[in-house]
Amino acid sequence: MSIPTIPVRPIDPSVEHALQAIVGGASAESTCSTDLAAGPWDFDTRPGYGPGSSMGDVIPTGAPRQGELPVEYREAGEDELDARICAAKKALGDRVVVLGHFYQREEVVRHADYVGDSFQLANAALEHPDAEAIVFCGVHFMAETADLLSGPDQAVLLPNLAAGCSMADMADIDQVEDCWEQLADVLGPLDEADEDGLLPVIPVTYMNSSAAIKGFVGRHGGIVCTSSNARTVLERAFERGRRVLFFPDQHLGRNTAKAIGVPLDLMPLWNPRRPLGGSSADVLQNSRVILWHGFCSVHRRFTVAQIEQARAEHPAVRVIVHPECPMEVVDAADEAGSTDFIRKAIDAATEPTTFAIGTEINLVRRLAAQYPQHEIFCLDPVVCPCSTMYRIHPGYLAWVLEELVAGRAPNRIRVSDDVAQPARVALERMLAARPR
Ligand code: SF4
Repeated sequence: MSIPTIPVRPIDPSVEHALQAIVGGASAESTCSTDLAAGPWDFDTRPGYGPGSSMGDVIPTGAPRQGELPVEYREAGEDELDARICAAKKALGDRVVVLGHFYQREEVVRHADYVGDSFQLANAALEHPDAEAIVFCGVHFMAETADLLSGPDQAVLLPNLAAGCSMADMADIDQVEDCWEQLADVLGPLDEADEDGLLPVIPVTYMNSSAAIKGFVGRHGGIVCTSSNARTVLERAFERGRRVLFFPDQHLGRNTAKAIGVPLDLMPLWNPRRPLGGSSADVLQNSRVILWHGFCSVHRRFTVAQIEQARAEHPAVRVIVHPECPMEVVDAADEAGSTDFIRKAIDAATEPTTFAIGTEINLVRRLAAQYPQHEIFCLDPVVCPCSTMYRIHPGYLAWVLEELVAGRAPNRIRVSDDVAQPARVALERMLAARPR
């Protein structure tokens, strides 16, 4: 039997290099914004999320702003920043742990001690209780989660404070408190179980939410979920409640509830800017899952037309998308699952395979470079990274690490005790939720 040959296909996984090539005219690819080729410090003081997939979203007025990055980091080239990051890490040794999210740019990820999704990274930090600092190369809610799970003397640092998450920002704590009051008017006291022992509504929040939302959920008998365990968490929630209030991502909520058999007409959308979320008392009373009007602008870019085109061009293609994609995209794909699911599915393929992937482009390009025996491409033909993840430029990472070497800890993310305590309860409920 002949052993399949593995073609050597050198792939540059750097989205930054691809963007520079597009802007310089050396590449025929297209990008959603040529501004992405500039350093993120050009946008840190401007209103909005900056260029990239979230550039059309409305940023909250109180969103954190980043101070000006010293000019030496803004002007340094890739090789110099690389060398400075390596030197600072070497000087700090075990005193620091650098975490890199799957969607982070290649120039940053290569310096990470751990690479994973937000919850994997928060757990990785737990393995280093003696590290003085955890540098989280991700977005704001992820750094908050790491602060919730790390020791009181550990400092969690976010290299660029402007790295928020437009989806997490779509569920504001005041709006959620207001929603809860309106639901109590329609459904009766929300802390009183009915004759079957079921509460009127269990709040469930996706990990991609602020610590304030996780704290709200913890205070009201609710639970956190990830894209890997959302199904199990929903099933456990229905053992304790008549219905679920799911935020902030309507698509993950809808795709998961549909998969466990909840009819679409029992899943009203809650628009926080309208009375009763834009629903009626009757609809809310009959509902099973109330979906918050939130979405991820990275995953909302994927369409059924892209899947059809991929199948037309590659008849044997395997299409895998993230469950933050709209329902019709998930339905049209061959498989849907978390970033970890996507990575494992590719890793498990024993024969050379063509994969079309519906998730953030930094991860897709890295997978293409890591698995050259397969053809792996992003369903979205436009180079359009997550606006906020992309704010963590290596210049910010070099700055934060060199500040640590100098004995300072900038950009520390702290969750107040009154929020942290119930938020940890909601996370512990998630860890206790097991498939039956
Ligand atoms: S990919 Fe989407 S959910 Fe993740 S950080 Fe970016 S905007 Fe937020």
